[in-house]
Amino acid sequence: MPKIRVVVDPDLCIGAASCVTIAPETFQLNEENKAWVFDHGTEPNGHTYERWLEVTEEEKENIMLGAQSCPTLAIFIFDEEGTQLFPEL
Ligand code: SF4
Repeated sequence: MPKIRVVVDPDLCIGAASCVTIAPETFQLNEENKAWVFDHGTEPNGHTYERWLEVTEEEKENIMLGAQSCPTLAIFIFDEEGTQLFPEL
């Protein structure tokens, strides 16, 4: 299964929640209206704005869709080698 790193920049996140609508297993708003990154609906090691996730291709595509939906491009996705998959450079 692909491993990806999902990062939310809390300074860019405005709580629009489109990522949460598309990928609720991965993104959930906190009390400051910033999106925490979850691992399949859970938070091993507690709240965090960035996490390595082991995902299926389908899950990866859905997380990418969530990132693409973010109006401020606050979500960054990297592959195992550290290459930025989104936003495309
Ligand atoms: S879509 Fe972007 S701005 Fe909205 S909650 Fe998610 S990360 Fe934050």
